[in-house]
Amino acid sequence: MKRQCPDSECFTKFPGPDSGRVVRKGSYFRPSDGQHIPRFLCRRCGKTFSSGTRLPCYRQKKRKLNHPLKLLLSSGVSQRRAAILLRVNRKTVVRKFRFLATQARLEHARWLKKFEDRKLAFIQFDDLETSEHTKCKPLSVTLAVEPRTRKILEFQVSQMPAKGLLARVALAKYGPRPDLRAAGWDRFFSNLKPHVLSDADWLSDQNPHYPRHLKRHHPQAKHRTTPGGRGSIAGQGELKKLVFDPLFSLNHTCAMLRAHMNRLFRRTWCTTKTKQGLIDHLSIYIRYHNEVLTGPCTG
Ligand SMILES: [Zn+2]
Repeated sequence: MKRQCPDSECFTKFPGPDSGRVVRKGSYFRPSDGQHIPRFLCRRCGKTFSSGTRLPCYRQKKRKLNHPLKLLLSSGVSQRRAAILLRVNRKTVVRKFRFLATQARLEHARWLKKFEDRKLAFIQFDDLETSEHTKCKPLSVTLAVEPRTRKILEFQVSQMPAKGLLARVALAKYGPRPDLRAAGWDRFFSNLKPHVLSDADWLSDQNPHYPRHLKRHHPQAKHRTTPGGRGSIAGQGELKKLVFDPLFSLNHTCAMLRAHMNRLFRRTWCTTKTKQGLIDHLSIYIRYHNEVLTGPCTG
């Protein structure tokens, strides 16, 4: 691999012949993972750098924890418990949580790129409900799944007002809560556009809002709906009591989210405190779900 000077303006500042401008210049020991890292010298600008300079973990002192933390957060462990298990401070876990989420989003975007060439013909989508801080402040997670492989393609988190018995309590306690799901669905369908065939087959439940938003971004799409069944056993709301559930892939995926992300458990002490926290956690889990839990085969 040909090394390049990390300074992007190196060539404009010091124009000249291109050959032999980067040479080895010793190495250093990186205590955080016990590796010897080679250093290099740019002959053109005289600056030195190492093979780790441009990597995302650059200057991290606990890089060894990145991978185990990703596994824990995708396996139903809370951030606090992860800090205890990994013997680090909670703040370290929070920083790593945000770092992992950013990396996961970049990886997911790279992974999605392959569907730009061979676009998808079948999509299942639906909304999963959770809340931030209290049940009085519900959030809606719109999710798109490729039904054959159960890979998660896209999600959007939108705030919505409380429904049912809680609506009055929520209004009295926290004031009116705008319903931002329409904007979320717009982003959702628009983001999926490059990866889905224009006449693809979309399957969802009978939510009356879906057709309007779907048709706006995918006018030629075939939209089929199916009546949502009732949850099979108490606490398994996602797995329906139907003989044959056409939305099985999506419902199964939602059940996996509920089983593997502590904040989405049906009965838990753990709640989402901020919308961004939920988005970050979903980003981390979805990477693990697509990469490991549903197998490497991506069809
Ligand atoms: Zn240089």
